[in-house]
Amino acid sequence: MSPVNRIGSLRLAYGHLDGSDLLRAICQEFPGRVAAVSSFGAESAVLLAMVAEVDPGLPVIFLDTGELFDETLAYRTELSRLLGLIDLRVVRPAPARLAEAEELWRSDPEACCHLRKVLPLRQAVAGFQVLVDGRKRFHGAERAQLRSIEPGNEGQLKLSPLASWSQARIDAAFDALRLPRHPLVAQGYRSIGCWPCSRPTEPGEPVRAGRWAGSAKTECGIHKVGTTL
Ligand code: SF4
Repeated sequence: MSPVNRIGSLRLAYGHLDGSDLLRAICQEFPGRVAAVSSFGAESAVLLAMVAEVDPGLPVIFLDTGELFDETLAYRTELSRLLGLIDLRVVRPAPARLAEAEELWRSDPEACCHLRKVLPLRQAVAGFQVLVDGRKRFHGAERAQLRSIEPGNEGQLKLSPLASWSQARIDAAFDALRLPRHPLVAQGYRSIGCWPCSRPTEPGEPVRAGRWAGSAKTECGIHKVGTTL
């Protein structure tokens, strides 16, 4: 049975859980078929610490778009080592497509995200039944109605163990676990993706206001990625 056809019973059984309890339960339901997708961004350490706690060998997929901040690449190395993540999978766009994507973020960010993120991720997640991410409802916009277990495309499930978490709870987890912050957080970045499409937020702005600022775009499309199982 496709995992997405089980979403009702999974929500019934595990919908009251969150964080590492939820991640552990779903890893037991789908052994060897769960992967996490992480940007190693401003709040990623909390989800990654849960991965390390539940199963440090869980595949963690990191999309290196070719347009990331150097600080993100350094943080990825530091955090992976610190947490003892064993199976970090760095995924990159196909070199043949990169010429097409040169500065495409200026003229057509949707196409740029498609080439640099959506297409490579689609290949990387083939064979997994559950994709874990760090989305939270308090980030607003399309995420405001997020549930912890959601249907993905073409039969995959999306698991967001932090869906119900608040900013205060995230900050408390950083403190309790002594997790290092992404270096750009100190410069006012609260959501960090590619350098051309991320800026620091002003006081009072929503968390993701710095992403594709000045345009209507709010998501890159990877959370709609699915694959035929
Ligand atoms: S976030 Fe910006 S630079 Fe990165 S893939 Fe999307 S449009 Fe391109």
